[in-house]
Amino acid sequence: MGKRKQMVERVTALMGNPEMIRNIGIVAHIDHGKTTLSDNLLGGAGMISSELAGKQMFMDSDEEEQARGITIDASNVSMVHSYDGKEYLINLIDTPGHVDFGGDVTRAMRAVDGAVVVVDAVEGTMPQTETVLRQALREYVRPVLFINKVDRLINELQVDPQEMQVRLGKLIDHVNKLIKNMNPERYKQGWRVDAANGSVAFGSALYNWAISVPMMQKTGISFGDVYNYCTNGDMKTLAQKCPLHETLNDMVISHLPNPVNAQKERVKAIWHGDKDSPIGKSMNEADPKGDLAFMVTDISMDPHAGEVATGRLFSGTLTRGLEVYTSGSAKKSRIQQVSIFMGPERLEVENIPAGNIAAVTGLKEAIVGSTITTLEGMTPFESIRHVSEPVITVS
Ligand code: GDP
Repeated sequence: MGKRKQMVERVTALMGNPEMIRNIGIVAHIDHGKTTLSDNLLGGAGMISSELAGKQMFMDSDEEEQARGITIDASNVSMVHSYDGKEYLINLIDTPGHVDFGGDVTRAMRAVDGAVVVVDAVEGTMPQTETVLRQALREYVRPVLFINKVDRLINELQVDPQEMQVRLGKLIDHVNKLIKNMNPERYKQGWRVDAANGSVAFGSALYNWAISVPMMQKTGISFGDVYNYCTNGDMKTLAQKCPLHETLNDMVISHLPNPVNAQKERVKAIWHGDKDSPIGKSMNEADPKGDLAFMVTDISMDPHAGEVATGRLFSGTLTRGLEVYTSGSAKKSRIQQVSIFMGPERLEVENIPAGNIAAVTGLKEAIVGSTITTLEGMTPFESIRHVSEPVITVS
């Protein structure tokens, strides 16, 4: 069996096991390295060659795929990662950087349960870091922190190992102060990032390495070693010993919630129907046997299949031929293709159970924010709002 086919089988097998799924987004201020990081995660999962990963070739190399009629949608990817001897499915939604920045981030936040917040080690947090963090907290999306461009701290700013640790520590404290000020309730629930427990990773997306406290314990590589590899110009060895995708995906799996645990809290924040009704309970449990509750977070155009609606399935199972209601429209539609994203391609599958991110065609009336359901008269999800708020200053 080809590698690709094997990967599809592994992904589809994991889709039905919500404990093994993580739906995540990567958020960052522009230029802090979100694209480079996403490419590297894809490279690590075998979706693109590792030589291309980190050089941002992926996003630009779509000519061949376009000629073959494959949809390019690098913003949605499903990957398999092994952690502690078990396989997990990571559904990654990359949030667009510049265009309609806030709105797109908010949409993506609706689909995911956890966010990797990327911050440039040299620049520190910036206004957009605050905006995306605030959006995540509001949508009940839990953050972990990746401090990127640590190579610059060492090689350009030429800080010594002690100063490097002091600076990184200050940055982490600052992010925690932001969380506390923006959303004291989440902070009280323990939503803080902490290097000691592994909810913070440090590294270089460009040079493909990352380290965290658990990874240091696993590999025996210390901060001092990282410093030496960087100053000696041998980040290649560091990337082999502490590959970025391994550190990042381990952090995602151990610190971000699976959809069943996440939905118990998230549904309360984004849906105001009766929690004790059958659909309320089904969403609470991410029940694949319940009525369908799918929230559209993105619509893209496929040259062959037409409009593709991507979103988060909170309840039920998406299947071809299913007749559904779209919030705000009296007409019913029939689902045509049901698909997942594998690397850059959209692949049709038989069905997709609750807790996953899915792409479907055939929803003629759907717009971004629509609730798609098999339950006539279902209370729709709260509309996706993006509110710009003043930047918080913390001392
Ligand atoms: P985005 O706007 O957040 O998607 O940022 P990009 O991934 O496009 O990165 C912005 C710039 O920073 C590019 O020139 C990258 O090559 C560079 N960059 C990204 N990560 C790193 C890193 O870890 N170290 C260094 N030195 N440069 C990086």
